[in-house]
This record gives sequence, C-alpha cells and structure tokens, in this order.
Amino acid sequence: QGSGLLGASDIRRLAAQANISPTKKLGQNFVIDPGTVRRIVHEAGVQAGEHVLEIGPGLGSLTLGLLETGAVVDAIEIDAALAQNLPVTVHEFMPEASGRLTVLNKDALQVEPLDVPGLADGQSFTLVANLPYNVATPVILTLLERFTSLNSLLVMVQKEVADRLVAQPGTKIYGVPSVKLAWYGQAHRAGLVGRNVFWPAPNVDSALVRFQRIPHMHDHGNATAVFAIIDAAFRQRRKTLHAALKGIVHDAAYSLSGIDPRRRGETLTVNEFDALAQAESARPF
Ligand code: SAM
Repeated sequence: QGSGLLGASDIRRLAAQANISPTKKLGQNFVIDPGTVRRIVHEAGVQAGEHVLEIGPGLGSLTLGLLETGAVVDAIEIDAALAQNLPVTVHEFMPEASGRLTVLNKDALQVEPLDVPGLADGQSFTLVANLPYNVATPVILTLLERFTSLNSLLVMVQKEVADRLVAQPGTKIYGVPSVKLAWYGQAHRAGLVGRNVFWPAPNVDSALVRFQRIPHMHDHGNATAVFAIIDAAFRQRRKTLHAALKGIVHDAAYSLSGIDPRRRGETLTVNEFDALAQAESARPF
C-alpha cells in the first residue's frame, strides 16, 4: 500500500510469519483496510502526545494508525502470540514510533490501573479499539468503572451491540448496557462499517460508538446500588417496577422519588433509576 498502514497482503503475511490462525472464540477479525483505520482514528480525534488505550491490537492494523498521529499507545492483548508479535510489526512498519508503544499480554476484563503504569497517573486518556465482539460490552463497562481517568471512547463493535449501547428509554432494545453506559456519560453512534474490511470477514456488520464521560453527573459511590436495581428491573422487563424490584425497592422509595411503581424498568431514564436508588437508601425504616 505504501501508506505505513497494513493492507490485506500485509495482514496475511504477518499472520503466516507468526503462525497465527484467527480464532472466533477471541473475536479475531483483523482490519485489512487502511481507509477504515484512518476513519476510526479521525473519528476519535486522536492528537500527538495524547495517551490512548487500545484493547485487542491483534496484528496491529489500528495500532499503527494510532501511532501515526504521534499518540502514546498502551495496548492490551489477551493472545500471547499476537502480543509478542506486535512490537516486531511496529518496528518493521513504523520504527520511529516503537518508543511510544507498550504492549501488555492480559485479559482486558482483568486489567487494573496499576498494570498500566502509563495510565495510572491520573492523566485523562481515551480508549480507541476494534473490540472483540463477544466481550465488547463488559470490556467497556469494566474499564469505565476501574479507570476513572478514562475520559472518552471511540470503539468499533457489532452493529446490534452499538444500537443497544446508545438506545433510548422506551425502545425495544433499551436495556442494561444502555442505562449503565448512560450512567457514566453520553454515547452516540458514529457510523457503520461493512464486514468486507476484515479478514476473516465476520457474519455481522459493525458500527462505531463514540462516548464522552461526564464527570460528577452521578455519585460514583452509588454505582453498586443503582446497578443492582437496573439489573433486577431488566431481568423481568415485562413486569412493573413494583413486581420486578420486590424486596429490593420498598414502597416508601417510590413515593419519595415520585416514580410510579406501575411503570416498567424499560421506560426509566438513568436519572430516574438513580433517584429511585437514592430514595431507597434514604427511606425511613
Ligand atoms: N485491533 C485489531 C484490528 O483492528 O485489526 C484486532 C481486532 S479483533 C476484532 C479483537 C482482538 O482482541 C483480537 O486480537 C483478540 O485476540 C483480542 N482479544 C479478545 N479478547 C480479549 C480480551 N478479553 N482482552 C484483550 N484482548 C482480547
């Protein structure tokens, strides 16, 4: 390609050299189109010197795009062979950027801020990733909870997952991921990506989701209580709040918060869930 980014033939050669055959279990679909990489990096608005976290760098398609901007990248990859190979690839395609990349061979769901020294100093950073599809939602929610300086996201996920993440109350696809993500800030869809930009091609389309954390919108200390109520309300989403939250939210909390117990959880905004949880913890016994 001559672009410094990986094209289809580079991806095939790198996989063959490192003896890697993509597995479905780890959601290994590698981007083979530099145009898509540039689009993601552009949508993310990555600037030189900025700290970026990438989950699942794979063979390095997006990593090289991020490094090309001058960003400092911490990449977390669960597959040992891919993690080992990534610095070699960057050294080959963008040697001047090698010093700005750190690779950690770990499961993103297990990673703690102290594992990533570059991100542990409280400086805000962004997550830019083509996420493994089977764990995309838990990865997003876990990282937002654990890394309080994770300020914004631009992620590629399966289209249906993107729709659920940005869904509004009262819609069929509004659910636990939509409310929990809204607890942390504001999410929008940022475009569609076809399946033909990947090798191997997945049998679903993808979409980009942009997210901005809104600090202090909710009291972080309430998260556990609010999330427990959200989980219970959607476990039986056809039931009224009163029925679905029996034993969890008491009658006094409904009158205190002004939320009608005959409503269904799927109609509540995150602020209403928050108000209900606060009323429950403040109600007289
Ligand atoms: N970023 C690369 C690209 O765009 O071509 C690869 C994206 S591929 C969809 C997802 C990557 O996430 C794979 O490299 C896979 O090995 C890795 N992965 C899967 N589960 C993971 C986890 N729990 N933690 C970290 N990486 C994971």
